[in-house]
Amino acid sequence: MIRTIDFRSDTVTRPTAAMRDAMCRAEVGDDVMREDPAVNALEERSAQLFGKEAALFTPSGTMANLLAILSQTSPGDEILLHRESHIYYYEAGGYAAIAGCGVRLLHDAAAPKPGLITPSGLEAEIRPKDDHFPTPKLVTLENTHNRGGGVVWPLDLLGATAQVAKRRGLHVHLDGSRIWNASIALDVPLAELARPVDTISGCFSKGLGCPVGSILAGPRDVIDRARHRRKMLGGGMRQAGVLAAAALYALDHHLALLADDHRRARTLANGIAGCAPFELDPASVETNLVYIPINAESMHAGRDAVYWEARFVEAGLLCYAEGNDRVRLVTHLDLNDENIAEAIDRIRRITAD
Ligand SMILES: *Cc1c(COP(=O)(O)O)cnc(C)c1O
Repeated sequence: MIRTIDFRSDTVTRPTAAMRDAMCRAEVGDDVMREDPAVNALEERSAQLFGKEAALFTPSGTMANLLAILSQTSPGDEILLHRESHIYYYEAGGYAAIAGCGVRLLHDAAAPKPGLITPSGLEAEIRPKDDHFPTPKLVTLENTHNRGGGVVWPLDLLGATAQVAKRRGLHVHLDGSRIWNASIALDVPLAELARPVDTISGCFSKGLGCPVGSILAGPRDVIDRARHRRKMLGGGMRQAGVLAAAALYALDHHLALLADDHRRARTLANGIAGCAPFELDPASVETNLVYIPINAESMHAGRDAVYWEARFVEAGLLCYAEGNDRVRLVTHLDLNDENIAEAIDRIRRITAD
């Protein structure tokens, strides 16, 4: 039996023994009554980390993003967001079903990396006030950009793009599920990355290795509204301090380790860049997501991403096909250097046939 190595997502990480200890020792209370010391500490610390007035702990990143929408829009408003964004692609249409918003999908060939938007590209899509049009109310951006390949927004581009939205009177939310990765990759503090936007979300349950939990940070009045909407959605939790304690532990002990995930992702990309069916440019790997484009020849031969996913899984490498022309491998806390070397070996072997 070959040993399975799980590259499907950084969400598969399990809490370490030390994290479980911290969870056991958490001082807890009823968080709906605002009496959970660990949750209060996490919300205060997160607000400070992101340089915002307040923060709110949520069960998931999807709920944090939905709350950002619910607290900064009204039904019938329009949200502008990239057509490859997580909020549009992977969050079950909550913006429409629950917030009642329409979307205007952005795509910008002039952007320096996939998933990003330029200031002029955004400006061109914001429609003027007109009785015929829905009211554009919110722009959401994503950093790192998942389907864009885990790429990081250049800080000046993020600032200039957010500035356009604000000048036109729109709010800006940053889906920062992997904002920690962006901060480590750029070596820039989280508050700097959050400064251009009104609200920002972050996931503790991805590369930081927590079992559950995300955060939404922003102005106090927005976070107050978000707290009310969280209750409405059924996301008010009671002794949630056991979860918040994991997040506090991760901020202390796991944040810096993301640099290892990034180094391993680059090692992996360099190790398989020469494999014939792929056209992987290792320079495109900026953080912990390795998207492997399948080349035209392999596609023509019917060996598309779904085929390669099956071959990888057969070889004990769990991963996902993304669409029919890319396979995604993700490095994370539960993988080590030996796992990476082993994966490179296996991939070279199966692609050499
Ligand atoms: C994972 C992720 C989310 C939130 O996912 P949950 O599973 O709901 O926590 C949001 N945005 C991006 C870009 C993500 O990768």
